[in-house]
Amino acid sequence: MRAQVAIIGAGPAGMFLAHLLREAGIDAVVLELRSREYVVARVRAGVLEQSTVDLMRRLGIGERVGREGMVHAGTTLAVDGDSFHVDFAELANGAAITVYGQSEVMKDLNQAADERHIHVIYEASDVRPHGLDTDTPWVTWNSPHGARRLECDFVAGCDGFHGVSRGCIPHGALTVFERAYPFGWLGVLAEVPPCNHELVYANHERGFALASMRSPTRSRCYLQCSLQDRIEDWSDDAFWDEFALRIGGSFASRITRGPTFEKSIAPLRSFVCAPMRWGRLFLAGDAAHIVPPTGAKGLNLAVADVVVLANALGRLYATGSCEGVDGYSDRALARVWKAERFSWWLTNLTHRFPHMDGFDRQMQLAELAYLRSSRAARSAFAENYVGLPLEV
Ligand SMILES: Cc1cc2nc3c(=O)[nH]c(=O)nc-3n(C[C@H](O)[C@H](O)[C@H](O)COP(=O)(O)OP(=O)(O)OC[C@H]3O[C@@H](n4cnc5c(N)ncnc54)[C@H](O)[C@@H]3O)c2cc1C
Repeated sequence: MRAQVAIIGAGPAGMFLAHLLREAGIDAVVLELRSREYVVARVRAGVLEQSTVDLMRRLGIGERVGREGMVHAGTTLAVDGDSFHVDFAELANGAAITVYGQSEVMKDLNQAADERHIHVIYEASDVRPHGLDTDTPWVTWNSPHGARRLECDFVAGCDGFHGVSRGCIPHGALTVFERAYPFGWLGVLAEVPPCNHELVYANHERGFALASMRSPTRSRCYLQCSLQDRIEDWSDDAFWDEFALRIGGSFASRITRGPTFEKSIAPLRSFVCAPMRWGRLFLAGDAAHIVPPTGAKGLNLAVADVVVLANALGRLYATGSCEGVDGYSDRALARVWKAERFSWWLTNLTHRFPHMDGFDRQMQLAELAYLRSSRAARSAFAENYVGLPLEV
């Protein structure tokens, strides 16, 4: 087999890239380890930045997110039961975020891929890129029908944090920046209406809580928890009691309790590897960087990367200019670092750290009070939260 671009991974980065390359007339094949059902069913991100929704519309896959996505023109920050609102409409030139689950995004990407005959190979095991430092790389894998080989001009490593691509870059050529946080997030879904029409981020003495949603009838709720906690430690009653306590105020009284499902504990991490290109390999999305979920940036950053990459490859194939591909890593990382900063900052502002003393706590409270009182501070928050402009 031959294609101009081999894309490893059919998550958000890989599938958005496949659509963008098709739009640019570039031939690509996507190789995915898991089954299509598994990829589509994964419960992960749920907050789309304005530019992600705009891109879905431009690609002709924005009909359902336009109809079913919940547009939020603001968010609320709560501190020990007291709360204030950040109004995106007023502070971010009318930009908004849209609540629409990652699994819904994946369904839309896959359905449009079928209609457009985008070539996605699922259940490709032992995917391995080769010859990345030559002009003629290739990728091998095993299919149920035997060993396969795809020749290509470039390889896009869109295979997430645990994928194979990043490991192909020699150690000396890669710098890794990392911060592991000393807590996790316990997340649940529940078939109950959310306690507020927008997201509520709560900083409480006992730890962080987030009231989010997937639809007007489905809540997505999170609690900061210990990394030693096990899911079995958290009965539904224990979860809702702690959630009500931390969210506090009028939101607590509007909580509808119900059986929880998709209960999981995720560690929090900031991670960036640089550069995002080596030879004929480009990394995009979680393969190159991870953010703690506090700023809801993970999926959106993956999309932003592949917009830059598709533009660069489009220019190369259309004009022969290498400027875009040579500048890909710097351009993508410029935006990645800003999103890393915002996610790190919001995590530090809202979570309880094990060794925090009274001074640290007062610093958090002072910063939240400043955010509440200063339009300039709220503007900076809103601008980052709805998403910084794409750097293409
Ligand atoms: C549990 C969890 C919860 C999250 N919650 C949020 C959230 O609330 N908000 C938010 O913004 N972000 C969240 N994220 C992050 C967000 O989901 C990711 O940033 C986003 O999925 C990144 O997309 P991606 O395509 O780069 O990587 P992925 O979604 O990880 O996709 C990579 C794909 O590559 C495939 N793959 C892996 N290895 C191979 C291989 N060797 N060969 C072939 N294919 C391979 C994988 O199966 C996968 O389909 C969460 C992530 C996790 C893990």
